[in-house]
Amino acid sequence: MRTDEEKERLMRERAASKLLSGPIKFLLSAPQLKFLPDAKFPEVAFCGRSNVGKSSLLNALTGRKAIARASVTPGRTQELNFFDVGDPTRFRLVDMPGYGYAKAPPKVVDKWKRLVRDYLRGRKVLHRNLVLIDSRHGLKDLDRQMMKMLDEAAVGYRVVLTKADKVKESDLEFTVMKVAEETKKHVAAFPQVHVTSSEKGIGIASLRAAVIEDALGSDWLES
Ligand code: GDP
Repeated sequence: MRTDEEKERLMRERAASKLLSGPIKFLLSAPQLKFLPDAKFPEVAFCGRSNVGKSSLLNALTGRKAIARASVTPGRTQELNFFDVGDPTRFRLVDMPGYGYAKAPPKVVDKWKRLVRDYLRGRKVLHRNLVLIDSRHGLKDLDRQMMKMLDEAAVGYRVVLTKADKVKESDLEFTVMKVAEETKKHVAAFPQVHVTSSEKGIGIASLRAAVIEDALGSDWLES
């Protein structure tokens, strides 16, 4: 027997999946702040080290094979990529440029920092950020810097572990514990750490529901 709470959760997850597997359109890539789209819709942004599994997670959340393809097109990896969700548009997903390229020249890193910091500080419609962390590596200094930037910009964020299928269960438990412990110390972070695998579908349904709630508010199903 399912409790009322479980039924409600399943209903929300189903509705979230329906919305995210419905119409989604790549809107534009913004290499600089002046190219941002009008701030007309709520936004939820995704960031993480390069290769963390950001494209795969965006694809899994939206039930597509290549929604985030635009972001891997050469030259677009240092831009903010915007996607309209719903037709008419209800909110936007923002694929932020990955950080931590081993060989990125300082000029590129500076440009990235400026773009991201300005976007985070100035964007009133940015409702939430998702900071993706590789389950195999846990938090690294660049992730901590990103979290600090989000704290300073007062943008609330969720920490999401990716590629959970790649580590042993006991190692995963330890990493979740360590990451959660550190996350709690960050003022703008949600205390709950999400565990996902795009490959195996772990944690995807509940993250979909969380993302939509972040964008549209907890009563989005009633509205
Ligand atoms: P991005 O650079 O952050 O966009 O990362 P990608 O989504 O391109 O993923 C980087 C690599 O990790 C690719 O080879 C993916 O196939 C792999 N990957 C991504 N997510 C998962 C996952 O959940 N499980 C496993 N096993 N591999 C994954």
